Amino acid sequence: MMAAAKTSETVKHITYLAGVLKAPRITEAAARLADQARDANWTHEDYLAAVLDREVAARNASGARLRIKAAGFPAVKTLEDFDFDAQPAVRNQITALSSGAFLTEARNIVLLGPPGTGKTHLATALGVAAAGHGHRGLFATATDWITRLTEAHHAGRLAAELAKLRRYGLIIVDEVGYLPFEQDAANLFFQLVSSRYEHASLVLTSNLPFSGWAGVFGDQVVAAAMIDRIVHHADVLTLKGASYRLRGRGIDSLPSIRTTTETEN
Ligand code: ADP
Ligand code: MG
Repeated sequence: MMAAAKTSETVKHITYLAGVLKAPRITEAAARLADQARDANWTHEDYLAAVLDREVAARNASGARLRIKAAGFPAVKTLEDFDFDAQPAVRNQITALSSGAFLTEARNIVLLGPPGTGKTHLATALGVAAAGHGHRGLFATATDWITRLTEAHHAGRLAAELAKLRRYGLIIVDEVGYLPFEQDAANLFFQLVSSRYEHASLVLTSNLPFSGWAGVFGDQVVAAAMIDRIVHHADVLTLKGASYRLRGRGIDSLPSIRTTTETEN
């Protein structure tokens, strides 16, 4: 009786302390794991570690959820959802990249390939994996990045914007090459690439091989200088084959796919 009363007072105190620590899940974990600990004769240290583990895991998960939401992915895709049998050549490289080590080294990733081969999926999935490792990222198309940088430039705060973006470990630029850039836009994009060079990572996707980038940036010299900075510390992955979107529909020879494949070879 006395012992039970003492336990319930301790439980109340744990609830109070967990509230002060803003870790209300500790109350539930402490109660649930106490029975398990008694049954299995855990040491005090084992019990404390198990309770704290639950709290830390829950915090990491909710942090990752927030980072994924804030990154602005068009749709959340994961590496688990990706069918590597459709792209066997990149399986090992993508698996290695999913550890997130490339972010601490400020390395870049370039995903090249025809439409529908999974570039946006993989760029997103790498961003989702990065969020799980505690890195903040931002996803947008090349056109959206140009709009954002142009607005900052016109407002006289381009440097501040680039500095702000450098605090994100990962910037994803989807669809480089779908639309050609004006000269001003190309220069702004060059500044984004330069500002991140050896500081923070970029993931870029493009349906064009590098040889086609001069046409996008309107200038051979700007394109060459940009590609030089991007690929200096980068993994370049080339996806191949027919569009995954059109699988099983008997349409595996869109003219655009033929053309892109031929340009690449
Ligand atoms: P891209 O950006 O290269 O044009 P996406 O990544 O948008 O292609 O892929 C088109 C669609 O097909 C998306 O819904 C994507 O999730 C899916 N997809 C593409 N490749 C694969 C794959 N290997 N496994 C699973 N889904 C895939
Ligand atoms: Mg895409």
